[in-house]
Amino acid sequence: MNSRQNNTKISEFSLIKKYFAPFAGNGSFELRDDAAEIVPSKGMSLVITQDAIAEGIHFFADDEPRLIAKKALRVNLSDIAAKGATPKYISLALGLGRYWSETWVAEFAKGLCEDCTTYNIQLTGGDTFTTGAGYVISITAIGELPSGQYVSRLGAKPDDALYVTGQIGDGALGLLARQNKFDDLGNEDKSYLINRYLLPQPRTELSQAILKFATASMDISDGLVGDLEKLCNASNLSAIVEVKNIPFSEASRRIMESESNYLKTALTGGDDYEILFTVNPVDCDAFENAISSMPFPVKRIGTISSGQGVKVFDTEGQVIEFDKTSYDHSGESH
Ligand code: ADP
Ligand code: MG
Repeated sequence: MNSRQNNTKISEFSLIKKYFAPFAGNGSFELRDDAAEIVPSKGMSLVITQDAIAEGIHFFADDEPRLIAKKALRVNLSDIAAKGATPKYISLALGLGRYWSETWVAEFAKGLCEDCTTYNIQLTGGDTFTTGAGYVISITAIGELPSGQYVSRLGAKPDDALYVTGQIGDGALGLLARQNKFDDLGNEDKSYLINRYLLPQPRTELSQAILKFATASMDISDGLVGDLEKLCNASNLSAIVEVKNIPFSEASRRIMESESNYLKTALTGGDDYEILFTVNPVDCDAFENAISSMPFPVKRIGTISSGQGVKVFDTEGQVIEFDKTSYDHSGESH
């Protein structure tokens, strides 16, 4: 069946019952009620976040629905992890594209169910509607953390060390690879980067260390430099970053070596879903000990100072000038 054709007659009620109810969590009455009841654990606060992804903007019409579902979930899990919280519940608003098909929904639900199992998350409910255009998926995620310990963007202090997880720029370069922009890129690098773009890896394993050690934290979704500006503005401070300390993948390095302008793409492009956070310098040793067995890199890339703005130094010690520092969905340049 062509996945762009709506040649099914299944009702909304049956769609929910068949594909989403089987993995709905406790308190959701198998998705047969108006709402769901959540009982927070004792002494815990709930942390809530929402991110939407739209066909043609965040994913391509012919991307695998299983991966679209995982991306829609994982972009939210990245925010939850950045706050030092553990993900618990999601609610799903599923906007069916004009040419939606049952096959697409079945595959989408399969991907979402797989990730709900992987990350131990309960589906509590949602809404299903048609958009009249492409598919749109909005997920609201709820996590838990000990009351009073929420880690915001506002808490950085002068001299705090600045850290990032993972490798910066893979998402933005992966999008270009997905669009066949790199003629000379080897197949292995290409599939590595495309996979990084299609399937973010939320750094959920880091949330406990964030909770314990981070003074400020946020997830990087619109580009490292622009998101660091947001953290600095929220904390009313500035930051200095050195490119030589920023972690890049081998595949990204090869692209930047062939065309140095892609460094700026890597530093300002979207879709990283890594965590950017600050740690008081007296806690850095204890923090680095605590995270020594993380399954991904965590690197110190710079320092917070008084004043305003973000300065990025290249490997020759020169300040890099950016025309724009982040991806903005309003279409405005920053
Ligand atoms: P109503 O319109 O009466 O509010 P709905 O028909 O929208 O109810 O939803 C019925 C049930 O199905 C609710 O429990 C709702 O949370 C759930 N639901 C609807 N759409 C989805 C979805 N895409 N994913 C998960 N649960 C859903
Ligand atoms: Mg109702």
